[in-house]
Parts: sequence; structure tokens; C-alpha cells
Amino acid sequence: MMARVIPIALFNGVATPRSGVQGMQSSPAPTDKTASERSSGLVAPPPLALYVHWPWCVKKCPYCDFNSHEAKGEIDQAAYLAALISDLEMALPAIWGRPVVSIFIGGGTPSLMSGETCEALLAAIRMRLPMQADAEVTMEANPGTAEAAKFAAFRAAGVNRLSIGVQSFDDEKLKSLGRIHDSAEARRAIEMGLKNFERVNIDLMYALPQQTLAQAQHDIDTGISTGVSHLSAYHLTLEPNTAFHHSPPSLPDDDAAADMQDMVEAQLAAAGFEHYETSAFAKPGQRCRHNLNYWTFGDYLGIGAGAHSKLSNHETQWREARHRSPRAYVEQVAAGKPKSTHQEISRADLPGEFMMNALRLNDGVNARLFRERTGIPLSEIHQLVLATRREGLLAEGDESIRPSEMGRRYLNRLIGMFL
Ligand code: SF4
Repeated sequence: MMARVIPIALFNGVATPRSGVQGMQSSPAPTDKTASERSSGLVAPPPLALYVHWPWCVKKCPYCDFNSHEAKGEIDQAAYLAALISDLEMALPAIWGRPVVSIFIGGGTPSLMSGETCEALLAAIRMRLPMQADAEVTMEANPGTAEAAKFAAFRAAGVNRLSIGVQSFDDEKLKSLGRIHDSAEARRAIEMGLKNFERVNIDLMYALPQQTLAQAQHDIDTGISTGVSHLSAYHLTLEPNTAFHHSPPSLPDDDAAADMQDMVEAQLAAAGFEHYETSAFAKPGQRCRHNLNYWTFGDYLGIGAGAHSKLSNHETQWREARHRSPRAYVEQVAAGKPKSTHQEISRADLPGEFMMNALRLNDGVNARLFRERTGIPLSEIHQLVLATRREGLLAEGDESIRPSEMGRRYLNRLIGMFL
């Protein structure tokens, strides 16, 4: 059996093409079109989410390719907070008037920030951006940095959803993953999380070094027994530029990993979790709204070191990224240049980018959304849709765009047909 792994880049947790970002341009490329000819084709702005990146961790995990840096000494939280606020202020003209539907404070390990920093950050955002009344505000936490007083302070500051990076409940496996916490700390962090937040997610990984199916099942069953309402289960992959890539551990083979994936899906379904995205499982009504906005090709502004954005206006849609190194980011923000790259998404690339996200959703999306989010009539990709249906990868039906059972299994192939 083939392993069902999706080798596409995830920035801020969203699927984007690895080749999609080029050199910095301060504004969209010059064009000889008149103002009335320049049109993104959108009839309304997509929902807007805000991502805030915290780039430090206590220690770098050997499998991690995120923009996270080992915190050496004290983190200058005041300087980073000031840079985040300036970055946001400089970005306001691109998103003026649009309410934010969700905020995600990710990293790195944002639970390293103090309660005061979190409070000042969320207050600064609220004072500069209109927020939907019921906006979801998520923060990522590492069990090794969990403290009851801090969790209470994050909640009081306005965080209403916690996402805890547990990865495994097996101390041996946690050691082999280079995690700073053990299983007891993970359980304590979840308990504290459930006491303080309405909604808690835990991240788990499977196909870990020398993991057996029984061990993977123990992790999933333990995760379910904690009472969390959302669980993300990721297949461990060896990403370039990680310590594991340079000296790979012994991992379960593809067949064993596929059996684990089947087990994960079966155990979570039996426990009442809906499998709504490739790696995401939620109790009814508990899906992550921030990530759903990525997967339905909404807009997002990313601030902080290395954060990525995808934004739209009446003329165009574009991607941009912030400087990756925390020091360069703070310096460049002070110089008025937070962005390292800015690139328009070409009309030819929009269908592939839309599908790369939407087809991760097991229920797919309403067919109308393609036109609403890309500005392109669905009829323009009709032949491609027919071809994927002929191959049995896309489900039949004109109302929705949805992967078939086989499409879910061979998602790379399905997405590849639209790229
Ligand atoms: S704690 Fe998370 S973000 Fe930090 S190094 Fe480990 S995996 Fe990466």
C-alpha cells in the first residue's frame, strides 16, 4: 500500500506551492493594463484571518522544519511585540475595513510569551482591526512550557482555543523526537488547558521511530480519553533541512504507516470525531475555523518573523512573506520593510492553489466557492474536473468539489492534475 503523505509546503499551516514565492517586489508588477482592465474578478473580499508568528522554542526538535529558533538567553519580548505592532500597522492599508474572523498565534512556542505580552498583543490587535464578535483566537502551547497561571492569563487576554503539541504519550518516543516534555507533563498540560479554555486541540504524530501499530493506537486512545474536542494526527515525515533528514531514524515502512493511518481514522470515528481534513478530526461543531479559512482559500495576513500572507483586493491576489530570522525581522520592521517577498498569484496558478487547499477537506467545498475565491468561472476548468472524475479521483455531482474515496487516498495525484 502507498503511504498517503502530502509533500506540499505548509506555511502558517496552509498548503502553498513550494515554488510560489520569488524575490521581493514592493508593489505588484507593473502592467500596461488600465485601471478598469485590472480586475481580480472577485465580487466580494474573502474572509480575513490573522496569523501571528512567535519564532522561538526552548530547543529545536530534530524533525521540525518550521521557522523556529532555539531561544538562547532571555527573549526580548518587548522588542518583538513592538515589531509585531509596527508590522500590523504597516499592513493595515492592504486590509482596511475588513473584520478578522480568527487569530492564530503559532510558532515556534508562543506559550513561552508572558501573560502580559499576550494581553498587550491582543489588545493592540483589537485596537487596530475590527474583529468578528465570536472570533476564534487560538494559541499553540508546548507541554514543557505549560503553567496554570500563564494559561489563565492567556485566557483572560482573549485566547479562547488552545492547541497543545503533545505528539506522543510514550516517554521513549518523546525522547526520540527530542521533545522537552514527558507524557505526565503532556497530561497535566491538557488538564490545565481544559480547565481554562472552551476548546482544546492536541497534536499527535504517528509512524514514529520504531513505532508499532499497538503503540500508535495507545497514543490515539490516550488522546481520546483526555476529553479534548479536536485532535490533529500527523504522519511523521523527514523534511529537508532537518536533523532527521541528515541522519534518519528507523521509521515504520509505508505499509505499516498506512495501517496506522487506517487505525487512527477508525479509532477517532468510533469516538465520535469527524474526520474533516487530511489530518484534522473534530467533535461536532468543534472544527478549527482558522484552518478552515485556509482550506477554503480565504485571505490571511501573517505578521511576525517568517510569516506568510495571502491577500486579495479588487485588482489582484498575492502572497507575501516576512523576513525569517527574528533579528532581521525586528531590524527590517524598524526600517519600514517587514516583507522579504511579494508575488502576485497568476490567473493560471489560482485554480491549482485553490484545489491544493480545498481538496484537503474530506467534504470538499461548494462548487460556487471556486468562482467566489479565485474570481475565475468554474467553466474554465470544466475539462480538468471531468478528467479527474473520469479517473475516479473527484466525486460526482455538480453542487460540490469533493475528493472521492480514491481521491483522498491518492490526494497528491488528484491535486497534481490541477497544478
Ligand atoms: S516545539 Fe514545535 S516549533 Fe518548536 S522546534 Fe519543536 S516542533 Fe518545531
